[in-house]
Amino acid sequence: MGTALITGITGQDGGYLAEQLARSGDAVHGLVRPGEERPDSLFALGDAVVLHPVNLSDDAAVARALRNSAATEVYNLAGVSSVALSWEQPGLTAEVNGTFVARLLQLVWQEQERRGEQIAVVQASSAEIFADAAVAPQDESTPMSPRTPYGASKAFAHHLVQVFRARGMQASNAILYNHESPRRPASFVTRKITSTVAAIASGTASGIELGNLDARRDWGWAPEYVDAMVRLARHIEGADVVIATGVSHTVADFVAAAFARVGIVDWQDLVTTNPAFVRPVDAVELVGNPARARDLLGWQPRVGFEELVGRMVDADSQG
Ligand code: GDP
Repeated sequence: MGTALITGITGQDGGYLAEQLARSGDAVHGLVRPGEERPDSLFALGDAVVLHPVNLSDDAAVARALRNSAATEVYNLAGVSSVALSWEQPGLTAEVNGTFVARLLQLVWQEQERRGEQIAVVQASSAEIFADAAVAPQDESTPMSPRTPYGASKAFAHHLVQVFRARGMQASNAILYNHESPRRPASFVTRKITSTVAAIASGTASGIELGNLDARRDWGWAPEYVDAMVRLARHIEGADVVIATGVSHTVADFVAAAFARVGIVDWQDLVTTNPAFVRPVDAVELVGNPARARDLLGWQPRVGFEELVGRMVDADSQG
């Protein structure tokens, strides 16, 4: 049994990760903002998850949480998770997604020295580090080419993890491609589409406004991606691994699949393009090669595109 400390435990991935670890009998600790509410996904877990109210800018408080939790695995999921928001707040994005990782790695290093015991670190890296890649699919040897403040902050953190690994830390980058679920906020295009399509089907919305319909993404099922992170934490050397399905679809494909799920075939007139949702700069095709994840971690995605869209639409239709 391990003991995990999760930053960003109130997010989509944090909730699924806490559930998986608690189910397998691991002790789970999470950092939350002081005053932050316990989300529904964590209520169900009750005392199995211990929350530590910690401001991430407070090194002493983070160090205390590391010590008091006795964590042997640290999952860094905290941060600005939206590319769109990173354009509005590049400074905050750099601090939370970038500088915080430098401080966290040093604090973990110091805690290791104090205890005389290895602590595994898994960093939620991102496909956005490859936004301007010349090749598709991308893999672990693809040169980094971020095009957004979000991607730049993730590239910086990615390098830091490699630097601390070279120093002897069991630190890994999970290079996560887009991963979705009914818990995705509607600021992401997938949930925006599924929640609006469900509303159109029930007669409470009349249409949907989107940005670039031609962008291609490699969309996977979020609970499978947190499982990959657990496998990575337990990979003894530490590594950088692409977590992706290997298949990409356009935003328009996602729209079509969502409408198909509620039986609407003629959806073209229900969708309009609003320039407000078009990004200043957008990665055109992000698709990852998951071969190393399979070989090194024995990980393979099972939920395909249609199934993913269907599950999200169904969840939004029920409630
Ligand atoms: P991202 O890949 O992390 O930026 O995830 P998003 O779900 O926010 O965006 C995925 C893709 O959908 C990007 O290429 C966006 O430009 C595109 N997109 C098209 N219309 C929209 C929209 O209305 N909202 C969002 N969030 N993205 C949109």
